Amino acid sequence: MDAMGYSEEVCRVCGCTEFNCLQCIEKAGEPCHWVAPGLCSACADAGDMDPDERAFHRESTLQSIQDELDEMQDRKADQL
Ligand SMILES: [Zn+2]
Ligand SMILES: [Zn+2]
Repeated sequence: MDAMGYSEEVCRVCGCTEFNCLQCIEKAGEPCHWVAPGLCSACADAGDMDPDERAFHRESTLQSIQDELDEMQDRKADQL
């Protein structure tokens, strides 16, 4: 708390502050606001997926990694 009478909040997830929120704007397309002490809306949105959706995202991510690995192996086999 300084002489101006406000405290500078810092997001404990992404580390942004009232005055340095560019990363959230880049990530979310808009400036964040505080949804809880130490948690900005950009990070709250990211962590606020419902479990089904989260599982779906994880699975599709794993699947795309697996596809990529398969592709890499195919390419390697072609070269040999
Ligand atoms: Zn944040
Ligand atoms: Zn922010």
